[in-house]
Amino acid sequence: MSTTRLLLNEFEYIAPASLHDALDLLSTGNDVKILAGGTDLLVKLKSGVDIPLEILLDTKNIAQELDFVARNGYELEIGSLTKLSTLEKHDTIRKYHALSDALPLMASVAVRNMGTIGGNIANASPAADTACPLIVYDATVCVSSADGDREVLIHDFFKGPGQCDLLHDEMIVSFRLPEVAPNSGSCFLKKTRVKPDISKISATAYLERDGDVISACKVALGSVAATPLCLCEIALGAVAKKASLELFEELAKKIAAAIRPIDDNRSTAEYRHALAEMLVKEALETAWERAGGIL
Ligand SMILES: Cc1cc2nc3c(=O)[nH]c(=O)nc-3n(C[C@H](O)[C@H](O)[C@H](O)COP(=O)(O)OP(=O)(O)OC[C@H]3O[C@@H](n4cnc5c(N)ncnc54)[C@H](O)[C@@H]3O)c2cc1C
Repeated sequence: MSTTRLLLNEFEYIAPASLHDALDLLSTGNDVKILAGGTDLLVKLKSGVDIPLEILLDTKNIAQELDFVARNGYELEIGSLTKLSTLEKHDTIRKYHALSDALPLMASVAVRNMGTIGGNIANASPAADTACPLIVYDATVCVSSADGDREVLIHDFFKGPGQCDLLHDEMIVSFRLPEVAPNSGSCFLKKTRVKPDISKISATAYLERDGDVISACKVALGSVAATPLCLCEIALGAVAKKASLELFEELAKKIAAAIRPIDDNRSTAEYRHALAEMLVKEALETAWERAGGIL
């Protein structure tokens, strides 16, 4: 479907001057859609996806309020309107290995210059590449409306394809990530048809190390379920055990056996199962090495 098509829907376009004005607009009860980089929303609107739309709320004038990466006590806070390309080049983000792996693998430079982290998460695709890294870091989604602010753990945020824990009058303002733990490492890997593409499957692993023993282990997979999928309960089985290639292989097998992917236009369930085992094992090994461990 060509994205050079015109927008067919009739709607009003408003670019509020402040976050306060944007939240007021969202509270009017009209069908307001937030436009960040537009790399998901405009593609859907031009492709004729039925999206109720009376007002398009362009965030361009509030970017100065929500485009930031800041240290906040022991946490890292990322503004929702921060561009993917800004994060990709940010020194602090490099310490969050899995997020840092994921960013340059997303789309093309042109799309990353427009697309935002808030748009990637609010779009709630099972294939959203920043989602699984945020899951293994136990990130918090900070949401605001004219009525106040609330926080949601990213694990509880995704509800289904295109559906998330956001009311019609709410907006994501930022994400909070705990400080990187000492002796920790993480890794994001993805398989695609061609490089700048949505994943057939992605795997993210996070490990903490106490000598040669695993003291924390988390795994999340993209594009294998209706939402980005946390397999942290299965991964817990590796905690307090000595790290080894055999242990990572066994864990990867268990995780691949637990998922129920589907056939779709990007891949088959069978291929996703095979890739899950391979990618999880490789991601665990790399995460362990990045944590300073030797196998
Ligand atoms: C060619 C191409 C390749 C792509 N490749 C990848 C890829 O490899 N991996 C990947 O994960 N994605 C990919 N994408 C999807 C897209 O680029 C990303 O999801 C991007 O991060 C979306 O951000 P955006 O700012 O453009 O969102 P928008 O399109 O502006 O918004 C997306 C949705 O989020 C809502 N929204 C935006 N910001 C907020 C907010 N602050 N609060 C609440 N709701 C909000 C919008 O209303 C809309 O529903 C690709 C897209 C294209 C066009």
